[in-house]
Amino acid sequence: NRQWILRRRPTGEIGPEDLELVETQTPELKDGEVLVRTTYLSLDPTNRIWMSDQDQYLPPVEIGDVMRGGVIGVVEQSRSPDLQVGQIVNPGLGGWQDYTVLPAAMARPSLQIPGVPMTAYMSVLGATGLTAWFGLMDIGKPQPGETVVVSAAAGAVGSIVGQLAKLKGCRVVGIAGSPEKCRWLTEELGFDAAIDYRNEDVGAALDRHCPNGIDVNFENVGGEIMDAVIGRMNNFSRMALCGMISTYNIDGQIPGPKDFARVLMRRILIKGFIVIDYLPRAAEAMAELIPLVASGQLKWKAHTVDGLENAAEAVKLLFTGAHDGKLLVRVSPE
Ligand code: NDP
Repeated sequence: NRQWILRRRPTGEIGPEDLELVETQTPELKDGEVLVRTTYLSLDPTNRIWMSDQDQYLPPVEIGDVMRGGVIGVVEQSRSPDLQVGQIVNPGLGGWQDYTVLPAAMARPSLQIPGVPMTAYMSVLGATGLTAWFGLMDIGKPQPGETVVVSAAAGAVGSIVGQLAKLKGCRVVGIAGSPEKCRWLTEELGFDAAIDYRNEDVGAALDRHCPNGIDVNFENVGGEIMDAVIGRMNNFSRMALCGMISTYNIDGQIPGPKDFARVLMRRILIKGFIVIDYLPRAAEAMAELIPLVASGQLKWKAHTVDGLENAAEAVKLLFTGAHDGKLLVRVSPE
């Protein structure tokens, strides 16, 4: 059983000494337990947060522990009447490892929808889709005709947010990091406009594309991009603070919005959220997401890297944007 162990907390970008791949013995199964072979491991921006010891929403991964990550897998051995060998299970959070031993109750059987690939349950029909749906619907509350801006718009969460906002009848403007990503947003996903933050002045572009100001900001990036968006938010607008990826590699305290007074003057609702808190309500989102995915109306992409041994290198793609869709590692064949 190969496992990625956190050896030290990264400073800045994740470095080669921070994680180590080791070989360990899989423990014997006890009654009520199952052995799950990981098929896909989810790599997420929040992995960098878990590697740090900053104040956060889950305990940090301890030095010497297996790195935490979302997994889906297949039951290889079972000492529980509730799960059969060969069943696909979605334990949610697991580890960066080939095999996991866990109580059957924690290895929940995965959704299985005809024609929908397993990677969807690690993306649009998994935590990614739930993040997009709850942040937008529960916090953003988009109304027809309103303007919605989403950052990291061509990413896993952002691309779903924009499409859902279009379905609600909104004007949708995405911010992303290349001309190709921007073209995908406008030409294939139906965004009204996309701003290439690496090659355009974001503020000026927002002025052009949001003539009526901004009613909903789905914030994935933080920093200067967030400041440019907040500076154009309307009276009684809403901001779902989903992530601040531009700050995750920075050690120390992160400043808030530059123009905080605007939050008062424009009576902006800013709400940070973590998808874990919404899991008890997952069915609400799934009721809308499943038919949209099954019918092909909601588009999504997975970027799959082969081999657990490549996980530590692959996670860095999230911070350069050199991936195309929900970043996953194929740990073993489906
Ligand atoms: P993505 O697929 O969106 O990948 C991250 C993207 O962020 C990259 O592709 C890159 O796109 C962009 N990016 C990286 N660094 C920067 C930077 N310095 N400035 C601007 N853009 C940058 O990942 P996810 O969809 O999984 O996550 C998106 C956001 O949502 C993250 O902030 C993440 O932490 C957050 N999140 C929050 C959850 C919650 O429960 N609150 C749950 C899941 C995700 P580009 O090429 O456009 O720069």
